[in-house]
Amino acid sequence: MTEYYRPTKAVIDLNAIQKNLQAFKERSGKAKVIAVVKADAYGHGMVEVAEKALENGVEWLAVATPDEALALVERKIRANILVMGHTPAAFIPVAQRTGITVAAISLDWLLMAGRAIDPDLPRLKIHLKIDTGMRRVGVQAEEAGEALRMVRSRFFSLDGIFTHFATADEDQNDLFQRQVKTIASVVEEINDPALMVHVSNSAAASLHPELAFDAVRVGISLYGIAPSSYVENNMPFDLAPALGLETEIIHVKQVKAGETISYGATYRCEQDEWIATLPIGYADGMLRGLQGQEVLVRGARVPIVGRICMDQCMIRLPEKMPVGEKVQLIGRQAGAQIRIEEWAEKLGTIAYEIPVNLTKRVPRIYC
Ligand SMILES: *Cc1c(COP(=O)(O)O)cnc(C)c1O
Repeated sequence: MTEYYRPTKAVIDLNAIQKNLQAFKERSGKAKVIAVVKADAYGHGMVEVAEKALENGVEWLAVATPDEALALVERKIRANILVMGHTPAAFIPVAQRTGITVAAISLDWLLMAGRAIDPDLPRLKIHLKIDTGMRRVGVQAEEAGEALRMVRSRFFSLDGIFTHFATADEDQNDLFQRQVKTIASVVEEINDPALMVHVSNSAAASLHPELAFDAVRVGISLYGIAPSSYVENNMPFDLAPALGLETEIIHVKQVKAGETISYGATYRCEQDEWIATLPIGYADGMLRGLQGQEVLVRGARVPIVGRICMDQCMIRLPEKMPVGEKVQLIGRQAGAQIRIEEWAEKLGTIAYEIPVNLTKRVPRIYC
């Protein structure tokens, strides 16, 4: 086991991930749960999360890139793996050899892949991506018939069909309804019960179990994070946040009234104040915009004061505390809690951005 000499760490609760997974399984009835582990499992650690998911009966993992899929194969993760994003020609024979499933994202892509396929290797497994309104990647609904003809004339194994919603995390809306209608009509047109149909992300899997089809692709909420406040307010079950971020005080001193803290002298002590230094900064993913954000010490909320530095930041304590005192930046401490969503709000962004921006310097510890 690697040793770490800095007390700053992300503690990942794999049992929370297991709980969330079970909740989505129950919610989705007969449909399978595809565990989305792209971007290092949203910063939680791809291999560890994948192993936990497989232990719990998950058969499918989804990633964004060919390299992520290959990393899973190289770590001996035995599951069906779907690359949801773009796969280039050079990867086609690798996918054939490893059995990785890739997304067919356009008619041009099918042409390219058809040429790149090595006929001496097993068939290339694909899932056909239909663009029903996200306008990112995918075959247009009107092109589905043509795509099928192309697939049948080449060395493909077409095993699935999927789409992705642009507004599933909002209140009922036209675009969402149109996307649902479009994919339903394409599925009907193709009319092949052997194909695995999957359309739902975390938001749709939470709010619309009737759209589960054969599988749901659960990403953010596998990690106990709601996709949006709308979904959070309408969640049919509780999510268990999986990521805690913690550190310890490394330095404490009393700063006199009128003195300032950190670069730019943006914070001035109004009275004599106990100021502690924490060994975490923006190079760890604690972005500068979090100046003023609260952290937990002895179960109490205390603010980050002054600019956040690359490797360190300062907090204002209610009283003198010793070096080594535990500080919880995200997660629970003595009945209090700071959630990733709170950081996102402070930063004016979505919760997805927070864990993926915790950098490699922050070790992930599993419990
Ligand atoms: C990332 C992604 C998902 C997972 O979305 P969440 O909102 O995190 O559940 C599902 N499908 C596709 C195509 C994706 O890119």
